[in-house]
Amino acid sequence: MYAPPGVKTSKDMPVPDTMKAWVLGDPGELKFTDKPVPVPKRAEVLVRIDAVAICATDLEIIWHGPPASIQGGMPFNKNWTPGHEYMGTVAALGPGVDEYKIGQRVTVEIHAGCGQCKRCRAGMYTSCHNYGLNYGDVDKGHRANGFTTDGGFCEYQVNNINTLVAIPDSMSDEEATLVVTAGTAMYGLTELGGLVAGESVVVTGPGPIGLLGVAVAKALGAHPVILTGTRDNRLKIGLELGADYVVNARNENPVEAVRKLNGGKGVDYVVECSGAPNAVNDAVRMVNRGGKVCLAAFPHEETPVDVAHIVRNNIYLYGIRGEGKSATHRAEAFMSQKRFDATKVHTHTFPLEDLPTAIKYARERIDDAIKVVVKTRSSAAQRVAAE
Ligand SMILES: [Zn+2]
Ligand SMILES: [Zn+2]
Repeated sequence: MYAPPGVKTSKDMPVPDTMKAWVLGDPGELKFTDKPVPVPKRAEVLVRIDAVAICATDLEIIWHGPPASIQGGMPFNKNWTPGHEYMGTVAALGPGVDEYKIGQRVTVEIHAGCGQCKRCRAGMYTSCHNYGLNYGDVDKGHRANGFTTDGGFCEYQVNNINTLVAIPDSMSDEEATLVVTAGTAMYGLTELGGLVAGESVVVTGPGPIGLLGVAVAKALGAHPVILTGTRDNRLKIGLELGADYVVNARNENPVEAVRKLNGGKGVDYVVECSGAPNAVNDAVRMVNRGGKVCLAAFPHEETPVDVAHIVRNNIYLYGIRGEGKSATHRAEAFMSQKRFDATKVHTHTFPLEDLPTAIKYARERIDDAIKVVVKTRSSAAQRVAAE
């Protein structure tokens, strides 16, 4: 029975010593195995993972490696578990933790940061200067589950209390996995200087972050909100989430369409979520002079950028990483108030043992998959019942 010294557990929620977990072998290779249930330290809790969503960054990591960094290097063949967009139930408390209680439902953000560098001290823990330094004699305690520490494609994980967001019972497990995605969109808008109600926004790329970016911008009072993309089914969801206009870039030039929709001058902000090779050049032509562009996605290759246009027009470019400055808490506040229905981007659910199928759906967009969620709990319950 799980009873590590100094860790508080409850007989109402017994924790096993071992758990099922997926680990990354060679690039693209996942293996289902058993691992010891991890032990929370000071300021950490053990979370029983109930649901975990698959993110495009998971696919990037599983096939290519970065931005994961495990023991200072590539994540392959290190018995390492990927997955980062999860939610669950607090199952045990590390020494001294009284901020959360066992049995409480939470969702998580990814980056705990080191808590001691310049950026962490300013709330920018997603750009921690000690990223991935959590091993050997350079252990700065950095945690970004599913990036620099074990992640969520398993049954239990430890989380720093700073990465937990309490959720109401009215929020489903699937919806709760999307808080961090909405939080990323919210962090982007915060880093641009904070959207002022009534200002105009274009979101390029109707993936999960883009679609929830539309919802967040609208909830913040942006007008108009324009979504550009190439798939009509996703643009339609954008309209349901609050976009005033959608532009299918296959049918018309998106830069011209955006400028026409906004009086010829272009918009105040672009949130670039497509990662398309020409996305930056398009975005800097969609904003008006002095406008701001948030880059929330990245292309595989280096791409040429029209610097002269950016300089002549005083355009600001911001690269944003993840969901800093407690943006997930603000996203959760919007979602628990039902200011938008994030579940519109959730399309498929699979049990934990079917993770490879779930990943195939997400990667190949089978059956118009957008956000694919893996439920951990049903499989655990089934296994207990079978024993
Ligand atoms: Zn993600
Ligand atoms: Zn730091």
